[in-house]
Amino acid sequence: MSYVGASGSDASGGPHGGNGHSHARPTVKGAWKVRLLGSAIAVVVGGFCAASGWTLYDLRQSTYAQAVSSETNLLSALSQDITRNIEIYDLSLQAVVDGLSEPELSGLSPRLQDLVLFDRAASARDLGSILVLDRDGKVVRGSKSEAIGAELGDREYFQAQKAAPGRGLFISSPFTRRVTGDDDVIALSRALRSADGAFAGVVVGTMRLAYFKKLFSKTDLGSHGSISLFRTDGVVMMRVPSGPGQIGLNLAKSSNFQRFMRSPSGTFNGTASIDGVDRIYSFAHLGELPLVLNVAFADADVFAVWRAKATAILLALAVLCATAAALGAGLRRQMRRTARSEAMLSRSEARYRLLADYAQDVIIQLDRSLRRSYVSPAALAMLGYQPEELEGRDIVDIIHPDDWPNVTMLICASQAQRASTEATYRLRHKAGHYVWVEGRYSLVPEDGGFIVVLRDVTLRKAAEEQLEALNAELSRVARSDALTGLSNRRHFDEVLDSEWRRAKRAGGPISLLLLDVDRFKAFNDRYGHQDGDACLRAVAGAVRDSVRRPGDLVARYGGEEFVVVLPGTDEAGAAQVAERVRSAVEALALPHAGNAGCGSVVTVSLGSATMRPADDSGHPRSLIAVSDERLYEAKRLGRNRIVTAMSTSPIAPLSVAETDRLKTVASYEQAGAGGPSDSLDRIARLAAETFGVPMAFVSLLGREEAVLIGRHNVTMERGPREAAYCAHTILGDEPLVVSNTRSDPRFSTTSRTQAGIGSYAGAPLVSPIDGHKLGALCIADDHARPALDEAQRHLLTGLARLAIDDLERRRLAHSAEKTTVGPAVAST
Ligand code: GH3
Ligand code: MG
Ligand code: MG
Repeated sequence: MSYVGASGSDASGGPHGGNGHSHARPTVKGAWKVRLLGSAIAVVVGGFCAASGWTLYDLRQSTYAQAVSSETNLLSALSQDITRNIEIYDLSLQAVVDGLSEPELSGLSPRLQDLVLFDRAASARDLGSILVLDRDGKVVRGSKSEAIGAELGDREYFQAQKAAPGRGLFISSPFTRRVTGDDDVIALSRALRSADGAFAGVVVGTMRLAYFKKLFSKTDLGSHGSISLFRTDGVVMMRVPSGPGQIGLNLAKSSNFQRFMRSPSGTFNGTASIDGVDRIYSFAHLGELPLVLNVAFADADVFAVWRAKATAILLALAVLCATAAALGAGLRRQMRRTARSEAMLSRSEARYRLLADYAQDVIIQLDRSLRRSYVSPAALAMLGYQPEELEGRDIVDIIHPDDWPNVTMLICASQAQRASTEATYRLRHKAGHYVWVEGRYSLVPEDGGFIVVLRDVTLRKAAEEQLEALNAELSRVARSDALTGLSNRRHFDEVLDSEWRRAKRAGGPISLLLLDVDRFKAFNDRYGHQDGDACLRAVAGAVRDSVRRPGDLVARYGGEEFVVVLPGTDEAGAAQVAERVRSAVEALALPHAGNAGCGSVVTVSLGSATMRPADDSGHPRSLIAVSDERLYEAKRLGRNRIVTAMSTSPIAPLSVAETDRLKTVASYEQAGAGGPSDSLDRIARLAAETFGVPMAFVSLLGREEAVLIGRHNVTMERGPREAAYCAHTILGDEPLVVSNTRSDPRFSTTSRTQAGIGSYAGAPLVSPIDGHKLGALCIADDHARPALDEAQRHLLTGLARLAIDDLERRRLAHSAEKTTVGPAVAST
């Protein structure tokens, strides 16, 4: 977190400092270090190896040189000894040769002759007997008299001299002496010559091989060394060590021997053909003698010490190398790791700096007294201040006065609880206006301060406000009616439900007005649809203006019907509002020629209902149903009026008109149509079946009572006028529909007498002669039913017309009869 405390003007960390590539450097530096370390270790270890190698090589060379020098010394000592001994033997032979040619010799006695001839032979240590052989190979003289007379003409030393008498000394191959002893010897011979130089015999002496063996065995050759004496034709004269049959073997073809023959003396490395051992050979030819001597130390012996040392050194070196390699690898790993974490650290440092410098959010460090100790450069763009202008100052200085008590309290509380917090508030821009910010305060537990990230949410706030307004507008549109601007049906349903529930809780009344424009179809037909709409808007305005309480709601219920919800309003209050509405519409004085019965202006009819939801288990729907029924009643009673409750008085006043009506009824009764009739029973049954109800009847209303002249499933024949349904039916031109007779006060007395009737509908029987209403065609059910719709009302009216037609037919038939009878009576 090294960015904290760095100022925005820091050259390396400024927004355009350009240190974006600094993260690549540590990796390269690390690799370089690792390589250097590897090289250093390699050089040291390599140096050790080279020095050790050189030492070993040098040691080997000097070991070799020492061995060669020892061999050469030995060779020269042995050569001298052998050469001298053979020369001594040769001199003895020479002396015999010379003695034999002395003329005085023959004058001496044979004992003296032998003394003169073989005296020296006796003095030589390893010299055997000396014999003189005549030209045929027969022993004629000898240092040992027992050999005289022996035939030795087949021997190599004789044959060689006989073949070339001038050759001088001849040295034979080793053989076992049988004549004068039994040991291994070599023979040395010289030829005897007559005065004319012809071959005259041989002087031969033997030399024991034991001499060579003794001589060679005195030297220290190591466990695998060897010394060999060869005759120059390849015959092995002596070898130490020697196996059976090796002495006398001819090795002329062996490579070692061939190398002996190439130069008078020398040194080389070779492998013995006899035993296959590697040796360092030093050899020398023995002067004029046909002999080659070689001394050979085995490699195994010479280099044994060197090998042990070399093995030890190599082992030590191997251990050193392995240790160095392990050390190097470990160090390299460590350095790589260090380099990596350095690189990561430096990268994240750079990243943090970059984030702080380039982030659009302002990053601030607060100390525990809520003073800014660092402000990131984004403050300039967001708040118009350079970071230095804000650093070192208290955070409240630019917080909106309305927001700061809350914000500082929140921050102090979270500081006390050692928790982080978030707040949305306004900060004053340097230019004076306010910026909405969302501040996230992350507590720094070490010092009780905060790291704050400020985000500009002005745009978001504005968008939220716009969205809110849009939502409000949308819901207003969703709740209102397009034509009149009043609430629509859906909103009305919601309000009615909620007001119903509220009234239920509060225990108060709730009233509903349902109103309908009178004869509006005719208005449309006459003035056109557009004027119709304008009229509806005017009516809506009048209704709205008539309603004063804030809780009241005016809505368009549908078409030209409106509804007013009056929460907390009782029957009297509702009647007042209804009257205000009715008179306000009338006062608009909008011409409506088709509404002649109501002053030829636009008027409305209203049904009003009041209920107390807490008292009964009613439903908002029943409030609508009752007001609808009363609205219909208002229409039926002539329009431009209010029905707040159904009239309890069933009896129409006996006005002049009623007196006239009773006369007409009486005329039908007199005509015989006042009694029961099968055809009217049939019509009643037809009506019951058509509407799917159990009961139907046709009644005539007289002065005192109603008489049933047609019946289906009804036992009653007549009833008092006060309790008669038709007494109410004949008050209007259209059918009277009572879906629940028990809740209608007009039939409270009727219900007592006709307990079986739960719902009722009746259409007046209108006389075609004078338009008086004689009675009604009625249908009834024992329980409440939904109100009849338009088509059903038409149907009921049609059935009523069928019934009056039947009555009229009977009346006409009766008067015809009377007319026919009349003249007859008259004539009588
Ligand atoms: P009453 O006195 O019995 O109510 O007669 P009325 O003609 O008003 O009865 P009805 O309900 O049969 O006719 C209503 C007419 O109102 C049908 C339609 O032509 C008209 N109407 C319904 N809604 C609108 C509307 O939005 N604009 C216009 N111009 N006319 C409408
Ligand atoms: Mg209507
Ligand atoms: Mg209407």
